[in-house]
Amino acid sequence: METSFDLAVVGAGVVGLAHALAAARLGKRVVVIDRDAQANGASVRNFGFVTVTGQTRGEVWRRARRSAQVWNEVAGPAGIEVLQRGLTMVARRPEAKAVLEAFLQTEMAEGCAWREAADLGERLPGQGQGQALGALTSAVDLRVESRTAIPRLAAWLGKAHGVAFLRGVAVRGVETGRLETSAGVIRAETIVVCPGDDLVTLFPDRFAEAEVTRCKLQMLRLADPGWRLPAPVMSDLGLVRYLGYAALPETAALRARLEAEQAAHLQHGVHLIVVQSADGSLVVGDSHHYAATPDPFVRDDVDALILDEFQAVFGQAAPPVLERWTGTYASADRHSLVEAPAPRVRLVTVTGGTGASTAFGLAEDVIAGLYDRPHTGVAA
Ligand SMILES: Cc1cc2nc3c(=O)[nH]c(=O)nc-3n(C[C@H](O)[C@H](O)[C@H](O)COP(=O)(O)OP(=O)(O)OC[C@H]3O[C@@H](n4cnc5c(N)ncnc54)[C@H](O)[C@@H]3O)c2cc1C
Repeated sequence: METSFDLAVVGAGVVGLAHALAAARLGKRVVVIDRDAQANGASVRNFGFVTVTGQTRGEVWRRARRSAQVWNEVAGPAGIEVLQRGLTMVARRPEAKAVLEAFLQTEMAEGCAWREAADLGERLPGQGQGQALGALTSAVDLRVESRTAIPRLAAWLGKAHGVAFLRGVAVRGVETGRLETSAGVIRAETIVVCPGDDLVTLFPDRFAEAEVTRCKLQMLRLADPGWRLPAPVMSDLGLVRYLGYAALPETAALRARLEAEQAAHLQHGVHLIVVQSADGSLVVGDSHHYAATPDPFVRDDVDALILDEFQAVFGQAAPPVLERWTGTYASADRHSLVEAPAPRVRLVTVTGGTGASTAFGLAEDVIAGLYDRPHTGVAA
């Protein structure tokens, strides 16, 4: 294999692959280098939920809209199935309904509507319709099965765009034009480092300055409940986490009520996302615990909080648990970190826990900046 490229990308998670795609679309010769033999990071541990609705107002929301477009563009050619479309954001309390009504008055509500519980139909199966006041429904969001989507995206980048992959290769040092790796020196005119939540190997000073830490999440897969969800489901707890809603003043009353009624959920950063796979099983989560090195242990009491919210929303006990796992991502008080530690070198990591939803839009902006091209994203 040649060892000189236009662009070298460190990291084959969704953020790295998104940069590879954006550069390959400009005709650049790209290599992606990853120390793992197969994708194993946050990008295959997540829900695969490409969330537009509820993303932080402004640039992040714009990038999410653009990312959903790119997922739609690449899904067919790459053999990735879009398993669900839209979002059902259930309101269990009047305070949650008030937040959603305020959200519907903003520009971010494009394609969204309020539906009373009786009108939710198959969007909220189980006995949930009796417990919900109603829900905001959207059409723009989508869901893929990350475990297969990420490998398929990588394989398609190789086949359709000639992107080279070096797997099982650790990058130990990066300077302009040169990467020092466990497989020798690789040369590239431009380098984008997308190391996910490895905050200590490359440019640790940049992560430290930006006060980036790591967040651990607990996830579950539940047996097929016997019904089908056309769109992912979220609930009141998500309204105080997703900044597109949480930044609205109406959220204060909801937060106060949740603190009184669901303090343990808030303490463990629990909110509910329920997505469904092709075999009918449900991927359900999650929780948020922060540390420089998160412990690897799954707490049953935290899973119980997630399943408790499932029961409240669907009005029925959760089906049996088939799998449990944890994932980690880089976390800071901002959506993403984009740094230029050396000429023609960029360090890019998503620190808001939304890389599946925003990576394509973010990467197009970074690549456009590097190659002095106009940004291709949807106008703000
Ligand atoms: C449980 C969970 C649920 C989530 N749910 C969602 C969701 O539904 N929707 C959403 O939008 N986001 C979600 N997220 C967030 C999203 O998954 C992440 O933001 C995104 O996957 C980060 O992608 P990444 O490419 O930066 O990181 P990763 O996927 O972790 O990839 C980084 C890669 O870099 C490699 N690497 C690092 N350093 C080196 C080095 N020095 N040399 C070689 N290789 C290196 C690693 O091996 C790894 O493969 C979730 C995250 C988790 C953990």
